[in-house]
Amino acid sequence: MISLSYDLHIHSCLSPCGDNDMLPSNIVGMAALKNLDVIAVTDHCSCRNCPAVAKLADAYGVTALFGMELTSEEEVHILCLFDDLKAAMEYGEYVRSQYLDVMNVPAIFGDQLIVDEDDNVIGTEDTLLINATKIGFEYIYDKVEEYGGVMIPAHVEKKANSLIANLGAVPEESKFRTFEMKHVGYRDELCEKHPYFKDCLMISNSDAHYLEHINEPINFLEADEKSAKAVLKALKNL
Ligand SMILES: [Zn+2]
Ligand SMILES: [Zn+2]
Repeated sequence: MISLSYDLHIHSCLSPCGDNDMLPSNIVGMAALKNLDVIAVTDHCSCRNCPAVAKLADAYGVTALFGMELTSEEEVHILCLFDDLKAAMEYGEYVRSQYLDVMNVPAIFGDQLIVDEDDNVIGTEDTLLINATKIGFEYIYDKVEEYGGVMIPAHVEKKANSLIANLGAVPEESKFRTFEMKHVGYRDELCEKHPYFKDCLMISNSDAHYLEHINEPINFLEADEKSAKAVLKALKNL
């Protein structure tokens, strides 16, 4: 086993709330500069900047997972991560079919830019990505697994858009084995209130929307080797 530094929750310029300087080239370049072993760009409800991330990660020698921060029907935020770009893109298409019909207003919510590895804007997403989707929380684990990925409830201690805030408790039939906490100091308190989390792996990420907020190598994950496949296996925590 090796210990890998990671930051698996980073927003790009595709998220309306993400800074327009969050170009895949800047994100991957910053990760390389900081010596992060593994990163994931996880825009709200879209994987459409992942192809650029894949190319850049290869070029910089950074291991990348691909995916998104999905918003469920109940407005719970959930990281959906894949070790395979194609699988992530296909899952992204499925999620697109479950969007609510609400358009983005860039002047109010921010731009939703799709860019290539050379910083060219190659498109925009017109549907507002920070909205809920039509996908109920209870269906997400199996759906993500169907595409070969892992589901990780995001920032579970947050007072909004989290499993605990929005659902009140961990649903009985839950299967997820990993969760994300922003403030790891609350773990004991969380586990006491919700024993389900005791047996889960906890990860912590920057949730960066600005370049300077991407984590230093402060969080580590044990994996068989430095590869997307091994990291995904560790995150599945089966
Ligand atoms: Zn979130
Ligand atoms: Zn986020």
